[in-house]
Amino acid sequence: MEFQQQFDVIVIGGGHAGTEAALAAARMGSRTLLLTHSVDTLGQMSCNPAIGGIGKSHLVKEVDALGGAMAQATDRAGIQFRVLNARKGPAVRATRAQADRVLYRNAIREILESQPGLSIFQQPVDDLLLEGGRVAGAITQMGLVFRAPAVVLTTGTFLGGKIHIGMENSAGGRAGDAPAIALAQRLRELPFRVERLKTGTPPRIDARSVDFSVLEEQWGDAGAPPMSFLGHRDQHPAQRCCWITHTNEQTHEIIRGGLDRSPMYSGVIEGIGPRYCPSIEDKIHRFADKQSHQIFIEPEGLTTTELYPNGISTSLPFDVQYALVRSIRGLENAHITRPGYAIEYDFFDPRDLNYSLETRAVPGLYFAGQINGTTGYEEAAAQGLLAGLNAALAVQGKEPWCPRRDEAYIGVLVDDLITMGTREPYRMFTSRAEYRLLLREDNADLRLTEKGRDLGLVDDVRWQRFETKRNAIAHESSRLATTWIQPGSSEAAIVASKIKGTLTREYSLADLLRRPELHYVDIAGLKGEPLADTQAAEQVEIQAKYAGYIERQQGDIERLRRSENLLLPESLNYQAVDGLSHEVKQKLSEARPATLARAGRIPGVTPAAISLLLIYLKKRG
Ligand code: FAD
Repeated sequence: MEFQQQFDVIVIGGGHAGTEAALAAARMGSRTLLLTHSVDTLGQMSCNPAIGGIGKSHLVKEVDALGGAMAQATDRAGIQFRVLNARKGPAVRATRAQADRVLYRNAIREILESQPGLSIFQQPVDDLLLEGGRVAGAITQMGLVFRAPAVVLTTGTFLGGKIHIGMENSAGGRAGDAPAIALAQRLRELPFRVERLKTGTPPRIDARSVDFSVLEEQWGDAGAPPMSFLGHRDQHPAQRCCWITHTNEQTHEIIRGGLDRSPMYSGVIEGIGPRYCPSIEDKIHRFADKQSHQIFIEPEGLTTTELYPNGISTSLPFDVQYALVRSIRGLENAHITRPGYAIEYDFFDPRDLNYSLETRAVPGLYFAGQINGTTGYEEAAAQGLLAGLNAALAVQGKEPWCPRRDEAYIGVLVDDLITMGTREPYRMFTSRAEYRLLLREDNADLRLTEKGRDLGLVDDVRWQRFETKRNAIAHESSRLATTWIQPGSSEAAIVASKIKGTLTREYSLADLLRRPELHYVDIAGLKGEPLADTQAAEQVEIQAKYAGYIERQQGDIERLRRSENLLLPESLNYQAVDGLSHEVKQKLSEARPATLARAGRIPGVTPAAISLLLIYLKKRG
């Protein structure tokens, strides 16, 4: 058979963005090539061995709802699962899994290798093939030319990557991997705005040198909640404990003593680092009055003794790293297996992208992942999936799919990047989504799987499971609304004991479910058979309990959509708008957005503020 060099879609980079991009394009029927430095590092987690967390699991579950791999790989690799914010409302609840690095990589590789229509080839890409102002393919280090009308670039931290440990620095894409220098230079010749960012990672520690007896244990949740809609806890490998320890005054003293040799504080590093994942030297400097910082000690996997001390990312010189680690309780005799480091890399201003993630300057070329100024595996995976599916749509001559802010966190992520750009590594939070009550992780499938099916991303197995669940929710919600409990009945007595009161009139099961003291398990079996599917049952409960809030948010969206293009006069005096906070007035006065929709995208300008603005404009006539 001839060596294939013509494809529909080429994806460059086999990280979290690249693997989802390649899978999405191939699922949609495109002949897809994934070109990457090394087949052995497909799906490699460059930093912490964990997937999910607040805001991030929402993205993972959306990728999953659209048929992606990240959540399924997490279920096969997760060694500790927890639901964060479990006691808070469902909008901010998030699943986080500690993952075995090797199992995760293996799972991703197996999913890639079983995907029909997807070829994998190991070679660094040094150049892009451009023809008539469009991308036409990629050229590898050994001069092989692969052609395709759409190319998705997902090279992560590798473009012009520079690794720093103390005052020493060297070229690298991440520890142990070569950077992409030739490609970075080539991209700098094209009309993209390029800047530098940085990120860092902590030193790793050998568990055999740690005194666990003085550390606080932290186990996962008993139910080990799966990450994927198709996942089940029986798939999870053995579960492991994590531990908690803290820095102390001595640690802080050691760090302060090393700051003169810190590449960050001596001006060697120019790139800005992640605000929400700062290095330990940054935390000591910024929060000078804090006497201690929490550190999570997380296992790197089931077959290694390496530990990841989450919270002490650093680029201080190695002697300072060594001393600071050994000043921490439980780590007094710790053996460091790998030094921590920071990495600086090129990223492209995402304001130069279309909503489909296609670059404006080079048609057919898409950017996804860390190169768009984001940080995190989940943010990368979400962009990869979107870029891959839009590349496939473009090749089929179809319109792109660009989810709105009220449809998906993926929409929020892309809208934030494209309208505002970023000056520091961007990570997702639930607070970035103004419609977070609608965009919950528990309903990612209900929001997106049907769309995924239409796009060709969702296979029959997922679709059938989804339809079964959706039908079960509909039937059960209607059963609860039409099943009545009479006052004085034996069922009413059971309810009364739970609510510590009496039922004085007839109530439907749906009415009862809206009461804060009652849950689905309390009322569903009072009359008739409760649902066996716990996911569907959870959905019935959330939809009933939050119906009022959800309707109100849907109303906000409808109103905003109807008035999205409403022009805001240049001369508008925001100080005169009743009810707006001082902060919102100031933000609007400074930004002077042209339309109501743009006003709504300014961070901190809430849907409630937009409603007030709308009322003011209507009154003003
Ligand atoms: P990557 O996962 O980096 O994947 C890029 C892929 O492209 C790799 O497979 C690479 O081999 C390939 N590639 C690159 N250039 C070429 C080329 N020319 N030809 C062929 N293939 C190429 N995230 C957090 O959320 N929190 C953190 O604390 C954090 N710390 C980090 C610390 C370090 C040191 C590093 C390196 C990353 C850190 N990250 C952190 C970021 C996280 O690793 C990334 O956000 C995520 O991996 C981005 O995914 P990606 O697919 O965009 O890129």
